[in-house]
Amino acid sequence: MAPSVVDAPSPPVGLYVHFPFCVSICPYCDFVVLAGSDTLGPRNRIASYVDAVLTELDLRADVVDERFGRPGRTAGRRAPLASLYLGGGTPSLLAPDDLAGIVERVRRRFGLADGAEVTVEANPGPDERGDVFLQRDAGISRISFGAQSFNAAELGQLGRRHSPGDVADAVDAARAAGIGSINIDLLYDVPGQSLASWTDSLERAIALGPDHVSLYALVLDDPDAEGLTGPSGDHLPTSAGARRWRERARVAQDDDRAAAMYHFAVHRLTEAGFHGYELSNWARPGHESRHNLAYWERRPVEAVGPGAHAFDGLDRRWTAARLDGYIAALRPADHAVPPSLPPGGVEPRLDPTAAAAEALILGLRLEAGVPLLAFLEPPFDETLAWADAAGLVEQTTDGRVRFTTNGRLLSNEVFARLI
Ligand code: SF4
Repeated sequence: MAPSVVDAPSPPVGLYVHFPFCVSICPYCDFVVLAGSDTLGPRNRIASYVDAVLTELDLRADVVDERFGRPGRTAGRRAPLASLYLGGGTPSLLAPDDLAGIVERVRRRFGLADGAEVTVEANPGPDERGDVFLQRDAGISRISFGAQSFNAAELGQLGRRHSPGDVADAVDAARAAGIGSINIDLLYDVPGQSLASWTDSLERAIALGPDHVSLYALVLDDPDAEGLTGPSGDHLPTSAGARRWRERARVAQDDDRAAAMYHFAVHRLTEAGFHGYELSNWARPGHESRHNLAYWERRPVEAVGPGAHAFDGLDRRWTAARLDGYIAALRPADHAVPPSLPPGGVEPRLDPTAAAAEALILGLRLEAGVPLLAFLEPPFDETLAWADAAGLVEQTTDGRVRFTTNGRLLSNEVFARLI
């Protein structure tokens, strides 16, 4: 019998809004992003996009209202959102009025709890990070800076437009504006990166005093080969140049060096007062990303924008990545036609065993792990016993099971056995 995972539709606890525009496209990037004249200049499509997003917010909110009632703080109302996350792309490019308009629409249609976490992703360059004081006034409480490296050569290699000094300026400006929670993203296993340059980047990030640090190994997938870039797929086709860049970069990656980088980071961030609450994420106490925790805890999150994925507690759906179809549905050229939800798809519903496997895989990502008793039966007991014998998991005194540091490094091997 499969362990019980209660799958039932419930109101979203968070909302993701995707902003698919960047000044230029980094060759490793798999996010749904457009650049060039779509982003800058007289023919940019940002204004049309913001209109479309506001309409999608209304249409999605109508559906949620219909299923779970309207948001509010009184009995019988659904709870307002605990988090809003504006990701991209580079949502810090949004004009302050547009940013404020999106936050306000979310507050009006979905509700935002007192003290809700409202994050915007930002690139650190002076022409990309936006006015942090106006972002604060729009309701932003958390900024996630895509620093990636503090080494100028690595930033150039990655196609990034900012300098290492820009990150310090961006963090200083955010602090001066009173932004209460600041994250810095770094990449490791970057072509040409040495252990010395990685430790230097990490030290420089820590020296800026962030509240949260995310460390991601550079992943060089091929969404075309994975069949994700068709007309209703959740990815855009990869350019030939980006594909060639990835082929060259792949041969310069090194698993052993990446493991050494991760081990160093675990040691150094712990020493600096962070705790690794998830495989790739470290926070000072109280600064864990509430929005991302909802994904790992398998809680329902609504999502808006091309390529965005939502979960309602039972089913997962996505919106197609292509901007033309997205805008055509939400802003029909024929004004006699009402706006409709954009194209996309729904994943097949998981059976109870698959849902439990998903809960186990997501839960093991967390430092808190999962309750051991809930998974001590087939088909999971065998894998957990194997991982225990291999020193990849450990039991806590309160009856939970979680990864050891070696287990974190080999998590994909454990997950592969659970799928
Ligand atoms: S800045 Fe970020 S979202 Fe934009 S292309 Fe680069 S990696 Fe992708």
